[in-house]
Amino acid sequence: MSARIDEVSSILRQQLESYEIKVDVDHVGTVIEVADGVAQVYGLRGAMAGELLQFSTGVYGMAFNLEKDTVGVVILGPFADIKSGDEIRSTGRIVEVPVGDAMLGRVVNSLGQPIDGEGPIETDATRPIEIKAPGVMYREQVNSPLQTGWKALDSMTPIGRGQRELIIGDRQTGKTSLVLDTIINQRDSGVVCVYVAIGQKASTIASVVDTLKRHGAFEHTVVVSATASQPAPQLYIAPYSGCAIGEYFMYEQNRDVLVVYDDLTKHSWAYREMSLLMRRPPGREAYPGDIFYIHSRLLERSAKLNRELMGGGSLTALPIVETHGGDISAYIPTNLISITDGQIFLEADLFYAGIRPAVDVGRSVSRVGSAAQVPAMKRVAGRLRLDLSQYRELEAFAQFGSDLDKATQARLTRGERITEVLKQREREAMTIEDQVLSIYLGVTGQLDAVPVEEIEACVAGFVEHMHTDHGEIVERIAETGALEDDQANALDDIFEDYAKKRNGKDRDRKIS
Ligand code: ATP
Ligand code: MG
Repeated sequence: MSARIDEVSSILRQQLESYEIKVDVDHVGTVIEVADGVAQVYGLRGAMAGELLQFSTGVYGMAFNLEKDTVGVVILGPFADIKSGDEIRSTGRIVEVPVGDAMLGRVVNSLGQPIDGEGPIETDATRPIEIKAPGVMYREQVNSPLQTGWKALDSMTPIGRGQRELIIGDRQTGKTSLVLDTIINQRDSGVVCVYVAIGQKASTIASVVDTLKRHGAFEHTVVVSATASQPAPQLYIAPYSGCAIGEYFMYEQNRDVLVVYDDLTKHSWAYREMSLLMRRPPGREAYPGDIFYIHSRLLERSAKLNRELMGGGSLTALPIVETHGGDISAYIPTNLISITDGQIFLEADLFYAGIRPAVDVGRSVSRVGSAAQVPAMKRVAGRLRLDLSQYRELEAFAQFGSDLDKATQARLTRGERITEVLKQREREAMTIEDQVLSIYLGVTGQLDAVPVEEIEACVAGFVEHMHTDHGEIVERIAETGALEDDQANALDDIFEDYAKKRNGKDRDRKIS
């Protein structure tokens, strides 16, 4: 009997010895605390930074703070049902979004899920939302233009494919209009567009989508939307998702892509909110220390890919940032100015004075785009910037009128007319050849004798006249991208005739 008891106890002992707890602390964790869209999790020792995690409720999260025993997780979805004690598992993947042609003409959230009610998106391909930007060897110089269709931009701050150009300005100064028309202008250029709306009202996004649809520009566009009512993490990842969706077309199809981030001010607010909730130490203006890095690693991903090594393709970025009272020396704007290849500064005073687009010539630059500008535009735009800056300086003296010397008066006359030529309403994108024709009149002084209030009609009439009666010149500029001396001389003659006829008509109208 006692032998049997010994036997049983030894078996039990053996079994106890070989018993091991099979809880996988590397890939499973337990929620300790959850509040405001962030959770503290115990376990998940093997989690990677930026890894996609899944709560037992099915909602996804992203590993944000990796600490010794715990992981700080930002929740990418509704978090009301998540409680402490819930299980959370790692997925082994970095947060990724679906990509592919099926994304075109769709509105998606920051995880790439459709939110337009048009059914699921049929695609198997995905890309991680964060990747390392291509190195120097894989890039080449920006060498082809991205036409915006705006006279003031294509002439003075030309944007090249693969460039990063910041759009900066106060509230309601036409920042969104500038980029929307640029997207619309890509209708026939083959450029794929991604519009990332960060922290905007849902109604604003609806109207953007509507505008794109009405102008036939939605088929080549993907809209990524994280509205103001969504939790900060969704706003934070939206631009990276949008960039990944664009990168697919650049890397896999070697196409040219334009990505707009509207706007990164709200993106920084979202990141600040997340960081403070995660108790990361606040720095200047309470932003965390890596606020510069989150934007630089995003914008570094725009590139003009080397044709031989990578097969070509490009990703142009137009980030938007908001200023207060025109102050470009605030923290986030200065960061972004130093990361990008130039900025287009929109000035509220100009906007309210009716000078739209309200581009402040003195403070707007494009550091790489002019390499990509067509020769015809280079030729007419050469003096433009100088003439305009001089004019803006002298403008204050204009009230002295006839007391001014001849040279100053001439400069004012010219400046007023050029300013008038560069005005452009929304949805009135112009081809490069029409822009060249209009600007040519302004900078060569042909319009000096035309009253300011008639300039718009006069220039529009002239461009139309060129198309109807001198189509060959227009075509030549469009084809060769150049404006040769003989064509320029021809333009002078044609304008002279045109102006005479116009004056004649005016006189007839006044007499009758
Ligand atoms: P927010 O700061 O609210 O995002 P925003 O800077 O993006 O504003 P928009 O929404 O583009 O500015 O434009 C503000 C208003 O100005 C809109 O009503 C728009 O229709 C008008 N607007 C913009 N550009 C022009 C233009 N070139 N000509 C005439 N109106 C314009
Ligand atoms: Mg806007």
